[in-house]
Formats: sequence, structure tokens, C-alpha cells
Amino acid sequence: MDLKAAIYKRFERYARIDTQSDDNSRTFPSTKKQLALARLLVSELKAIGAKKVGLDKYGYVTAEIPATVKARKPVIAFLAHMDTSPAASGKDVKPQLHKGWKGGDIVISRKHGVILNTGNCPELAVCRGDDIITASGDTLLGADDKAGIAVIMTAAEYLLAHREIPHGVLKIGFTPDEEVGQGVKYFDVKGFGADFAYTFDGDVAGSIEEENFNADGLKIAVEGKSVHPGTAKNAMANAARVAADIVASWPENMLPETTEHREGFIMFTDITGGTEKGEVSGIVRDHDMKKLKAMERQLEAIVAAKRLKYPLAKIEVTFTEQYRNMKEVIVRHPAVMGNLKAAVRQAGLEPRVKPVRGGTDGARLSFMGLPAPNVFTGGYNYHGRYEWVSLDGMNKSAEVLINLARKWAE
Ligand SMILES: [Zn+2]
Repeated sequence: MDLKAAIYKRFERYARIDTQSDDNSRTFPSTKKQLALARLLVSELKAIGAKKVGLDKYGYVTAEIPATVKARKPVIAFLAHMDTSPAASGKDVKPQLHKGWKGGDIVISRKHGVILNTGNCPELAVCRGDDIITASGDTLLGADDKAGIAVIMTAAEYLLAHREIPHGVLKIGFTPDEEVGQGVKYFDVKGFGADFAYTFDGDVAGSIEEENFNADGLKIAVEGKSVHPGTAKNAMANAARVAADIVASWPENMLPETTEHREGFIMFTDITGGTEKGEVSGIVRDHDMKKLKAMERQLEAIVAAKRLKYPLAKIEVTFTEQYRNMKEVIVRHPAVMGNLKAAVRQAGLEPRVKPVRGGTDGARLSFMGLPAPNVFTGGYNYHGRYEWVSLDGMNKSAEVLINLARKWAE
């Protein structure tokens, strides 16, 4: 199946629209400019014949592809996000197509010295012979996640034009503000009416994700005792120093900069204070809930030891839940991953299941009642000027979507 020409046209059109989201905004969506893409998608969905096309006040775009079989089948949804990361400019993105990459340097911009190759990005190695799309050196590309949107739109067009392909009711959803962690906050899961979903927001071809971190926030509050330094012996507790001592006592092999794959960590994100008061903020991350809790006990033990060491100081540590590993929800519905793996194999790829070292919109949706693992879109190096996506990878992603539609109707 070759949908590359159609995918490329769409991708290029979407990439040129600036949809950067904003961490500091208090509105939803965080930036108005995301709605320009939302409105374009609404008109394109209508043009390809999708039904129940809607855009609500939050900027969620939804649509339906009617069933082609009579029997009631599970309703399956395909989701992607419209915004791009605040980490790099998304203004005036100029996509470049590097046809039939032979394995050497891909010059994104000679002027800016932005050169992509397997030396600085080993993930590229599997794409030999592919058509690679990059930006032009001043901006990110926005394949995260306009690749997902182009894939879903093109596969939807194909399914609407090929009513002989058997499938149940399919839903489409495009969401704003994923990159600022708010993407599905107001998403009406019930009204959407899907039983299971797939987010198309992954990386290189073949990779699928059913697992993300369990995440807690942490706060350590230290109350010190201030006295004149000249007469401070056995009378002072310096809160700033106590806070620093606690942070320095955390094992060095359990930090984000020293861990990978399935290893968890605590990151101290912020430390403020003086003699009277000190405060430490941080995050706790692990795929395994038991290990997450064990790390929290370990930090509490460190704090307990510091209480003995600094009897004049008061130290409190608190943890608050942020998000949870969606695998907990997804394993209850084995067909969700079963059908996905089969759909990937049917597209001629070996599925590689990898854990996400972060959170996803799918994780939040899973706990809102819509189990939603993540599917590759064929790109990498997201959020920066070295971002790239393989057009052949996007084509495979569309094939997986069409296979999925068919599988769920079997
Ligand atoms: Zn994304």
C-alpha cells in the first residue's frame, strides 16, 4: 500500500501552520493559533466524507467513519495532537524532503551547521532508502505530532473511499496542548463514545508503547532556627544547609541523568531557602508502582536520619500523585495490544514494545476510561531542529491503522 504522496501533501500543509502551545498560558487551548489547524482539519474531514465532524469550545476536533459491517463491533478511536513543543520555534517551518536517503549526512542547514547522520542519531540507521523529511535549521519540524495527524487523515480518506474494507464504527480525535501536559483535560470521553483508542504519537517504525511512568511529586519543607552566627553553637539550625544535605544524600545512581530504560529516579527540580526556611521540590518516577513507593520510603529514611542529625530543625516530606502507568488499565483488555501487534506484523514490521520514560495523553485517557496505547509515526529527535520523520515510516503507520480497523471487526 503506497499512500506516501497523499501523506506528504497533508504533512507539509500542517507543518507550515504554527501551533506551538504555551506553558505559561492560563487559557485552554493555551494558544489561539492551534485553532487555525483545528478549523482546517474540520473542513478537510468534511471534504473526505467523514460524519459527525465537530470542533468544540476547547479546540477538540472529533469525527466518525461509519461502520461497513452490520454486526456491532467495538468502537475504535485514533487520536493525535495538534500542538508542537514550546521547546523550539514552530514559526515558519519549511519542510524539506530528502528522497531515498543513502546513509550519509542529511544537511538540514549548512548555514546553521545542522547535519543529521547515524553518528548523532543511531535511530536513523533503520531508514536507509527511505524518504526523510526535516525542517530547515531554524525550527522544529512538528512531526510530533503532525505526522500522526497526516497519517490518521490519509488512512481515514482511504477507508472512506474503500467501503469494501470491513470495519466497525471508527472515531477520530485531534487534541490541543499535549506538549504542556493538558491535552485531554476537558476531553469528553463519554460523549466521544469509543471503547478503545490508539494515539498516533510515537517514534520510529515498529515501536509501540503501552507503558509510561508512575509519577509522584515531592516536597520537603525545612524549618530552621536562626540565631546570631557568633553565638550559634548548638543553637542554630540552618534550613538551607539541611535541605542541601538531604538532596546530597540521595544516591547518585537514582537520578534522571544516571538512569535509562526501566530504571526509576528521583529528580530534585528546585531548592530554595535561607536560615529560617528551606524548601525542596522534586519528582519521583518509576514504571513499577512498588519500586516507586520503595524510593519514597528510602527518601523518608534519609529525612528521618537528618532529623536525628539536626534536632533543632523541623523537616516534613510529602508526596502527591501526578499520573499512573497506563499498562495497569491496558492489560485488562488484552485485545487492545493483541490487535495492535498483529496489525504491525501485517504491515511487515516486528513490533517493539518499549516503556515511555514520561507521561502520555494516552495514559491520562486510559484512567479516564479509554484505554489508549501509543503507535509509531516514523519520526525521531522531537522538539528540536534535528527532528526528522520518514515518509515510508508514516506510510507504515497508516497501514497499521487500516489493519487495526479491519482486525477489530474480525
Ligand atoms: Zn507528541
